[in-house]
Amino acid sequence: MPFEDQLQDLYNAFRGSGIECKFNHPMADHTSFRIGGQAALCVWPASRAQLIQVLTFWRDMGQKCPICVLGKASNVLFPDNGYRGLVVLTTRAKRVVFEEDEAPDKEEFRNSHVFCQVYAECGASLSGLAWTCQDASRGLSGLEFAYGIPGTVGGATVMNAGAFGSEMERILVSSEYYDLSNGRVVRLTDREMELSYRHSVYLEHPEWIVLSSVMTLSYGYAPDISAATKANMDSRSSKQPLNYPSAGSVFKRPVNDYAGRMVENVGLKGVSVGGAQVSEKHAGFIVNTGGATAADVIALVRLVRAEVERVYHYRLECEIRLISDGLDPNQDTEW
Ligand SMILES: Cc1cc2nc3c(=O)[nH]c(=O)nc-3n(C[C@H](O)[C@H](O)[C@H](O)COP(=O)(O)OP(=O)(O)OC[C@H]3O[C@@H](n4cnc5c(N)ncnc54)[C@H](O)[C@@H]3O)c2cc1C
Repeated sequence: MPFEDQLQDLYNAFRGSGIECKFNHPMADHTSFRIGGQAALCVWPASRAQLIQVLTFWRDMGQKCPICVLGKASNVLFPDNGYRGLVVLTTRAKRVVFEEDEAPDKEEFRNSHVFCQVYAECGASLSGLAWTCQDASRGLSGLEFAYGIPGTVGGATVMNAGAFGSEMERILVSSEYYDLSNGRVVRLTDREMELSYRHSVYLEHPEWIVLSSVMTLSYGYAPDISAATKANMDSRSSKQPLNYPSAGSVFKRPVNDYAGRMVENVGLKGVSVGGAQVSEKHAGFIVNTGGATAADVIALVRLVRAEVERVYHYRLECEIRLISDGLDPNQDTEW
C-alpha cells in the first residue's frame, strides 16, 4: 500500500474513534529545542486507553509506516526534513492517581508515616507532579529533584531522569508498556526496568511503549519539601540558560568530571554553528539562539566531541536522543 494511503487509513481510524490527529504537523512547535520539520501524521491520544487504541491501529496495518512515540520532546533532536511516518505525542494521556485519594480515612492514613504510591499515565507532566506533591495539602517527598525537568513521566521513566543527586530510579516501583511487536501489555518491576544513570531497559527496546508508571513517595513535613523543591528550581534558574530553547544537558556526565567543565576548558563556551550555540551560561547546554537547525546542532555536537576527545582522550556520550527521519528502520540513530 502506498505510504500516503497507510497514513490516510490511520487518520480515518483515529478520527473515527474521536482521537485528535493532524497531517503535516510542524514539530518545531512541540520540541523544547524549537527545531524539527513536519511529522507526516501526528496523533494526540487523550488517555492510556486511547494510546493503546492508537498503537493497536498501527499494529493492525498490514504494511507499517515508521512510528515515533514522544512525550514533551524535551530530550530529543528532531530532524529538519521531518518524519515520514506517525508521531504519537503522549502529553494528553496524563491521569494521575494518588493512593491516598483512595484511602477510607485520609487523616489517619496521612499521620501513619507510610508511603504513598502514585500512578501516572505516561503523558503526565513530571514537573507538574512534583509541584502537586510539594503542596501543603499533599506533603509528599521524593520528587523535589524533578521540579523544572520539562518532560513527561513516561519520558522520565525511559531516560531515568534525575538531578540534584536523585533520579527516577529512587522512586519508581513499576511501569507498564505496550509491546509493538506483539500487542501485549506487560508490567515491569523496578529491577526489570534496569535503571541506571540516564538509562533504562526501554532505551534498548524502542518497540516497548510506556503506558504508565507507579512511584512510591513518602509523607514529610510539607514546608521542608516545598522549600527543597523551590531551592532546586532556583538553582536551575541561576545555572541553566532557561531563556533559550534547548534540550537540557547535551552530554552524559563523565565519571569524576562534568561535561560542561570539559567543554569550557577546551575553549568552546559560546561557540556557534548557525543558530546553535554552546551556551555562554552553561557549557553543557547547546541552545537555539534563533533559527537553529538540527544540522547546526549536530555539527556543533560533533565539533565539541572531537575537541574534547583531542584534549582529554575522552569521548563524551550524548544524552539527547537523535530522532531519525523515519526512512531509517531504526527509530533513534547515533550522533
Ligand atoms: C531546560 C531543560 C532542563 C532539563 N533538565 C533535566 C534534568 O535536570 N535531568 C534530566 O534527566 N533531564 C533533563 N532534561 C531533559 C528532559 O527533560 C528529560 O530527559 C525528560 O525526562 C524527557 O521527557 P520527555 O517527555 O520530554 O521525553 P521525550 O524527549 O519526548 O523522549 C525522550 C526519549 O524517550 C522516548 N519516549 C518518550 N515517551 C515515551 C513513552 N511513553 N514510551 C516509550 N518511549 C518514550 C522517546 O522516543 C525518546 O527516545 C532537561 C531538558 C530541558 C529542555
